[in-house]
Amino acid sequence: MARLEANGFRCYHDAECPSGRIVVINTCGFIGDAKEESINTILQFVARKQAGKVDRIYVMGCLSQRYLKDLEDEIPEVDKWFGKFDYLNLVNELQEQVQSPHPSAIKPRHITTPKHTAYLKISEGCNRLCSYCAIPLITGRHTSRPIEDIVKEAEWLQKEGVKELNVIAQDLSSYGLDLYQEHKLPELIDRLAGIDGIRWIRLHYAYPTDFPEGLLAVMAKHTNVCKYLDIALQHCTTHMLTQMRRHITQEQQDALIHRIREIVPGIHIRTTLMVGHPGETEEDFEQLCQWVKQMRFERMGAFAYCEEDGTYAAKHYKDDVSEEVKQQRLNTLMAIQQQISAEIQEAKVNQVYSVLIDRREGDYLIGRTEWDSPEVDCEVLIKQEKTKADPIGQFVQVRITRAEEFDLYGQIIQ
Ligand code: SF4
Repeated sequence: MARLEANGFRCYHDAECPSGRIVVINTCGFIGDAKEESINTILQFVARKQAGKVDRIYVMGCLSQRYLKDLEDEIPEVDKWFGKFDYLNLVNELQEQVQSPHPSAIKPRHITTPKHTAYLKISEGCNRLCSYCAIPLITGRHTSRPIEDIVKEAEWLQKEGVKELNVIAQDLSSYGLDLYQEHKLPELIDRLAGIDGIRWIRLHYAYPTDFPEGLLAVMAKHTNVCKYLDIALQHCTTHMLTQMRRHITQEQQDALIHRIREIVPGIHIRTTLMVGHPGETEEDFEQLCQWVKQMRFERMGAFAYCEEDGTYAAKHYKDDVSEEVKQQRLNTLMAIQQQISAEIQEAKVNQVYSVLIDRREGDYLIGRTEWDSPEVDCEVLIKQEKTKADPIGQFVQVRITRAEEFDLYGQIIQ
């Protein structure tokens, strides 16, 4: 978007109520649900084009990268398809189609999130080749961005008003290995934590094998590094971890989780698990349920396995767990977690936390604690009359008065 703006286009990020005549749809293509959502979005805009509300439709991103040929044939109403990294070709195409006489100042980013929060991507791609995952096929090998580039971008974001950096990568743990031949995540996070005005740094998508443990001391040292880690573990039994090609045993994985909790007290771990992967027996699943009860992850999501074209699992395994069993296992696992989540939330009642206010919805201000990532985690709802000085984008101290299984309710105390 920043590149388009630098070339004279005005860009808006608005999927719900689009106002532009040219639409660029960025797609996701790594699991069934994401593909379906992407296709539905494209079809919605095709309908708008047919109704004369849109002139041109361009599609890019992972889905487009993965199924370019098929999509071109299937949805000819789209004017042109681009791959995930085809930014320059998209800009060139638009320049050919539309006169754009007033280039604006070149900015590094067009921020599409609320002003006070931003995602910061530190690397692209993944070398891990987990059996079920199509991401490496789409994004290619892991490529880290240089530390200096990332710090510069973070400083710019801070000057634009960003207070929370959500650091993301497909594989955070490998950051630096390609570029510096060593783990550099601890150093990078230490540098980002030193930027004045950045109040929260939140880490997403670590990988347990070869985890850069120096990071834990950095997390413990800086108050502005959230005590939060998103680390997908996928399963617990060594049998399943091997089947999934995760290159880790149950003992190693458990020991890592214990060390994380020991070195960073109070940390909230978010993990993702998968049920119904080829080879998962009743016994594996039973062990997974027991393990989830034992580990008491503060945040947890789960998926049912879905065979993805071109993956190791699609080529070498039989999809041998029925859809019905997958769904039953998913429901059972999520019911266990619901109970754990409710207990964890309940323990927060009467405590006072620093809450970042994201928005207003009716009579409520909606915010998050340091343990909650935008979009995926819990929210804090604060009943308060609308005022001119609604503290959107600000940190306030909130006493928690009530907990639901997912969200918290509270009152501002200062
Ligand atoms: S580490 Fe994550 S992105 Fe990489 S292959 Fe495994 S699941 Fe996919």
